[in-house]
Amino acid sequence: MVTVFSVVKKASQNTARRLAILLATLCLPGLPAAAQPTETGDFRAPDLVELVRLDPSIHLDIRYATSNNFTGRKLYAEARAFLQRPAAEALVRANRALKPHGYGLLIFDGYRPWSVTKLFWEATPPDKHKFVADPQKGSRHNRGCAIDVGLYQPRTGKEVAMPSAFDEMSDRAAADYQGGTTEQRRTRALLRQALEKEGFKVNPDEWWHFDYQDWRLYRVLDLPFFAIHASPRAPDAGPP
Ligand SMILES: [Zn+2]
Repeated sequence: MVTVFSVVKKASQNTARRLAILLATLCLPGLPAAAQPTETGDFRAPDLVELVRLDPSIHLDIRYATSNNFTGRKLYAEARAFLQRPAAEALVRANRALKPHGYGLLIFDGYRPWSVTKLFWEATPPDKHKFVADPQKGSRHNRGCAIDVGLYQPRTGKEVAMPSAFDEMSDRAAADYQGGTTEQRRTRALLRQALEKEGFKVNPDEWWHFDYQDWRLYRVLDLPFFAIHASPRAPDAGPP
């Protein structure tokens, strides 16, 4: 015989089970992409260098330190850019090679803490996920070996127009996109040649993103900028 008590008890058990499922769903929205990747093996010790300390003629437009980025949120407390030392030194050489052509490097982003990559993934619709790194694998930015970079004109200080805007999630962002003006394609090619000559490789989906050849030697990091120790200054870096 089914008593009132047993009906109430059964109902409350069902409710409790449903609540447990609901809470699990609510508490773990990023499942299964929530955890920083565990990496085993030998890696080089991180040696993140602030780019403008190596070469003050490298300019910064760190969009993630403003709300002018695809998330519409300010994600970095400080507008700074770092790379692992060999990548930073290669970038400085590329910047020097561009000078006689009348251009300098304009940095949008360098080393990026892993937790920011996770935020990007969650803020991006699934059909645009090719434009952001899967946090389960980590980004080469998290290893301090990827750079988002355009050009500026030292004469005017202005950004040089490319076939798409930085972080534009469209076909125009592709490194081999054939639209835009002849001049935009020329400056895009100049940027790519200067960086690829120094060991960087362009991302086919993003003309501005370049991976440094040694990225596999560095592990994914989640270090905030303020925790990166000041690196020794280059002899010709000028006053801090
Ligand atoms: Zn990038």
